[in-house]
Amino acid sequence: MTETLDIKITKTPNSRLEQTDFNDLPFGRTFSDHMFVADYEDGEWKNFQIVPYGDISVSPAISALHYGQSFFEGLKAYKHADGTVSVFRPDKNAKRFNKSAERLCMPTLPEDIFIQSIAAVVDIDREWVPGKANHSMYIRPFMFATDRYLGVAPSTTYKYMVLLGPTGPYFSKTLRVKIETHYTRSAEGGMGYAKSSGNYGGAMYPAKKATEEGFDQLIWTDAKNHEYIEEMGAANVVFVLDGKVITPSTRDTILDGVTRDTVLTLAREWGYPVEERRVSVAEIIEGAKNGKLEDAFGAGTAATIAPVGSISLNGEEYFLSDPKTREFSQRVLRELDAIKYGNAPDTHGWNYIV
Ligand SMILES: *Cc1c(COP(=O)(O)O)cnc(C)c1O
Repeated sequence: MTETLDIKITKTPNSRLEQTDFNDLPFGRTFSDHMFVADYEDGEWKNFQIVPYGDISVSPAISALHYGQSFFEGLKAYKHADGTVSVFRPDKNAKRFNKSAERLCMPTLPEDIFIQSIAAVVDIDREWVPGKANHSMYIRPFMFATDRYLGVAPSTTYKYMVLLGPTGPYFSKTLRVKIETHYTRSAEGGMGYAKSSGNYGGAMYPAKKATEEGFDQLIWTDAKNHEYIEEMGAANVVFVLDGKVITPSTRDTILDGVTRDTVLTLAREWGYPVEERRVSVAEIIEGAKNGKLEDAFGAGTAATIAPVGSISLNGEEYFLSDPKTREFSQRVLRELDAIKYGNAPDTHGWNYIV
């Protein structure tokens, strides 16, 4: 433990809380009253502040805009029935934040500063954490380069910020997904394991094409031969095949998701055989054909547990069972919600109480 962060707090004189419609909270559009900001200068983090949420001013020459020195994190806060507010596993995001920073030649942030900055701004805007089922407060920490310099070189100054937004369910339906066999999200030696902004910009074009073809999501495959499954959109993907919980093992092309880890931890505790390994497109399609593919879902903080309804490969669509009848994903969803919303004992210490 380190000492408490010295944060300068400027509260907004005009809260938007009363005008906000908590019955209409699409992901990513509503922001709370405050945000956290810190600066990296002269080799250290300084100017820790909480200020009213709003636009910021930066130089048009920053390398975040030109060369993509920018990355983010995503986690959530939940309101329990007794009013307690907890953040889910922020220690995992703190570690991943620094993995992304290192890959992009950006400064790391001490884990306790990451966690305290989030706790402080969530605490100030705790009235913004929705109390309804399936609702939460999305937390978006991010960092970007701020040098006024057009050279292709790591910046010497950076900003770290945290935004908060109350949010409802992300996907509300069963997903029709397509196995992508042409475009690539990340390659070996690349930065797929980092939550680097450029990864998402590059994924938009293939995702748009898939949407035009009537799909909700893409399943990414390996860059070399498109033979192995990697992820689903911006979520990890988990299957139950012939009684075993199977998911692609993490490597430099795959984001090591907190939800993925949580799902696998629960699966192991419940006695399911769990396999983290290369997962071939062929075995998943075979399982979809012969009925041994019992379950398939995306796992991520924003998406939570997003059931796959059908998988398409080269124009052929394979339908899976009705998600409500699936034993594993339904159990995971129930247990995850129970823990996050404080309705089940938090035996793993996953809830960070604010
Ligand atoms: C954020 C993200 C995930 C999910 O990670 P969580 O920690 O579970 O939210 C998976 N894949 C990609 C590409 C992501 O960006």
